[in-house]
Amino acid sequence: MLNSYIENTLQFYQEKCINCLICTQVCPHGVFTEGKEHVELTKPSACMECGACAVNCPVEAIDVQSGVGCAWAMIGAALKGKDMDSDACCCGEDGCC
Ligand code: SF4
Ligand code: SF4
Repeated sequence: MLNSYIENTLQFYQEKCINCLICTQVCPHGVFTEGKEHVELTKPSACMECGACAVNCPVEAIDVQSGVGCAWAMIGAALKGKDMDSDACCCGEDGCC
């Protein structure tokens, strides 16, 4: 089953997921959470399209078009000393990521 969202380009193919949980560990916004047979896409709108989950998924169960949002978020977080775990955008710009 394909889950895709209009807010961003994140796509999760749960039938491919082997429940390794890597995506839950690398995602800075907690978009994926542990599930029984596969991870759950619990906060899709929080995705900032950094691409970490897709790069690290061993079975290509995640697809996302990495944009500039992550770079801005990381730069903003570094400059402002903010935590990347927050749901709010780290760069302070509305709608940035
Ligand atoms: S692309 Fe980045 S922010 Fe989006 S779900 Fe994957 S790791 Fe999380
Ligand atoms: S990294 Fe891929 S295989 Fe592993 S839990 Fe996440 S979606 Fe499933």
